[in-house]
Amino acid sequence: MTKYRSFIKTETKLHRCPCGEWPDKVLIQGRAPTDWMTVGGDCCGIWEVPFESQHAVGDELKKIAETAWNIAPRVIYETRKAKRNR
Ligand SMILES: [Zn+2]
Repeated sequence: MTKYRSFIKTETKLHRCPCGEWPDKVLIQGRAPTDWMTVGGDCCGIWEVPFESQHAVGDELKKIAETAWNIAPRVIYETRKAKRNR
């Protein structure tokens, strides 16, 4: 079991994190080989979404992780002000 942890810059527009930020990078974590990994942002580092990796690597894994991040339901309180706007 190898621990996998990687910050990957993304060109995909990521949805806003519940912390109020729009992350530029995805943090993909897991143990290889595994079906289940988590994707976080380069913002708070707290909110993570579990997803099924399908043993993908490289760009394919990044794409699956970005999709998992974007389709996950989230609650964002309007009182949370983002530091930057896009
Ligand atoms: Zn965040």
